[in-house]
Amino acid sequence: MATDSAIEREYDVPADETPGATCPYCGRPYRSEQYVTFHIGVDHADECSEAEREAFEEERDDEEYDLFTFHFKAAISVFLIYFLFTFVYALVWAG
Ligand SMILES: [Zn+2]
Repeated sequence: MATDSAIEREYDVPADETPGATCPYCGRPYRSEQYVTFHIGVDHADECSEAEREAFEEERDDEEYDLFTFHFKAAISVFLIYFLFTFVYALVWAG
């Protein structure tokens, strides 16, 4: 999905940088524990532990999370606007 890769690009660790933390589920490197917490809460919501889930919910109130989900929200908004226009357009032609 395009939205996934946008988030990954933003938080991927550059080749010349040592990752601060790695995801215990898929092994993806992240710059800090906080990003791993976000990643687990989003991508491993079904398999993560209770503690990891709680950590994610706590971090979610943090400003950093808004940044983390910004690309995702932007993509959803664009999709909804596109869908709305297509729907209205179809309605006009069908009517
Ligand atoms: Zn992972």
